Amino acid sequence: MEEKAKLSLLTLCNHCDNPPCVRVCPTQATFSRDDGIVLMDFHRCIGCRFCMAGCPYGARSFNYHNPRNFLNEDELSHDFPTREKGVVEKCEFCAHLLDQGERPACVEAAEGVLYFGDLNDPESEVRKVLRDRYSLVRKPKLGTEPQVYYLI
Ligand code: SF4
Ligand code: SF4
Repeated sequence: MEEKAKLSLLTLCNHCDNPPCVRVCPTQATFSRDDGIVLMDFHRCIGCRFCMAGCPYGARSFNYHNPRNFLNEDELSHDFPTREKGVVEKCEFCAHLLDQGERPACVEAAEGVLYFGDLNDPESEVRKVLRDRYSLVRKPKLGTEPQVYYLI
């Protein structure tokens, strides 16, 4: 128990099925895609930070500075809209990679520790893992219906 209390865990966006961040956004800059991924349209974001207050998981952060100033030219992705100062960021499950048939970068880097897939498909790898292992979601009583599961 003591060992588990010291574990480091990813606390990424849960891509909730009932996302309060989406409900409070006045410009629909954050929205749920048909496949359930909660996305950002950085060009519609006015930086009001209502979504940060609405998210009970601390999954969002505000760009106080231009994030691209902290990257080298060879680290920049020119396939993805430029993130700017004054907008809110969060995990988007690397939707731009998914659209090219690839997996999210964290899943790719985690060497079999993280799983990603369609939870509605009973034959998907992620659904099979959830059938075989115990899992939990963060703050289930809030009714946000998180879609990120932690295997225990
Ligand atoms: S974890 Fe927070 S930011 Fe992500 S969908 Fe849920 S409420 Fe929104
Ligand atoms: S900061 Fe942007 S995404 Fe968040 S609520 Fe305001 S307009 Fe919507």
